[in-house]
Amino acid sequence: MNNQERANQTLNEFDIQSFQEDLIQWFKKEQRILPWRENQDPYRVWVSEIMLQQTRVDTVIPYFNHFMDKFPTPESLAEADEQEVLKAWEGLGYYSRARNLQTAVREVVEEYGGVVPSDPGELGSLKGVGPYTKGAILSIAYDTPEPAVDGNVMRVLSRILNVDDDIAKPKTRKLFEELVRGVISDKDPSSFNQGMMELGAMICTPKSPSCMLCPVQEYCRAFDKGIETTLPVKSSKKKQKKIPYKLILIENEKGEVLIEQRPGDGLLASLWQYPMIPMKDLGPESAKVWFLDEYGLDIEWKEKLEEVKHVFSHLIWEMEVVRVTLKGGELNRERARFVEKQTIDDYPFPVSHQKAHKYVNP
Ligand code: SF4
Repeated sequence: MNNQERANQTLNEFDIQSFQEDLIQWFKKEQRILPWRENQDPYRVWVSEIMLQQTRVDTVIPYFNHFMDKFPTPESLAEADEQEVLKAWEGLGYYSRARNLQTAVREVVEEYGGVVPSDPGELGSLKGVGPYTKGAILSIAYDTPEPAVDGNVMRVLSRILNVDDDIAKPKTRKLFEELVRGVISDKDPSSFNQGMMELGAMICTPKSPSCMLCPVQEYCRAFDKGIETTLPVKSSKKKQKKIPYKLILIENEKGEVLIEQRPGDGLLASLWQYPMIPMKDLGPESAKVWFLDEYGLDIEWKEKLEEVKHVFSHLIWEMEVVRVTLKGGELNRERARFVEKQTIDDYPFPVSHQKAHKYVNP
């Protein structure tokens, strides 16, 4: 059975119209006031949806307001320096989102006269605009009945329709997209999709859904069977790999501190950081040799300041912040430089390294 047939079968005997009406009515009455809901400007919707990926609403609000003050239009974001954009994103994490957003916005300015395309093909071909973001922009800003399926929507719908497919598998999203196509309101797709998202955020939460307050409880098959907390089915991810590092704080004779820019692609691309020695196969003495090879600088350990752990989706950095003394040598690493301590804040740093700023500028 293909996804469409399964969706049809699942929605058999489901009161689609009443469900839509109840969900939309609830959303209109109960929705939180959020800055990106002030209007349907597709650029604002786009920025908010990118920021909200993997990030909590409360965290996003100040970043969104600041970003919109700084880059109020696609043109202003397209023209901005990448470092300026990363600085505005500093602390929000998953920095490739910011870079992809700027790349895509530049394309919108160059190819579409600064108007975010409403054509699904054009919109979906922009960098960083996956099926979810595409659906969110098309439905929220352009009132098009397109599914916007993320983990929240899969959770809510898996309960309402009692679907037990593993939502950790990429192919399951396709099934849920078909299901949303089957239930979405043609009259008000914007409120429908936002209502699903709001329900997932406020009521149908992962661990203890508030079924007694739920506006669509009467349609919910999982509630009816008392199995709402067993859904969705989600197989567990692989454990993250732990990587030990020493984060090096080193000053030259002028009192300047050494920082470096990360490569232009990969994890935390183009952000700045303090030098890091990967300690996996190194002891303290061989770490110094490694540093001399890589940076051209001869160092002596001085003091251990703090241990910092930073968890990414696929790995964990276990960092020891260490102050070292510069004994000699000449810096020979591309992308690394000594800078005045007072200028540290001008460079976009990932959160994990920002934790060491206090030892540089106490
Ligand atoms: S009744 Fe409970 S499980 Fe069903 S949608 Fe509402 S909150 Fe979620």
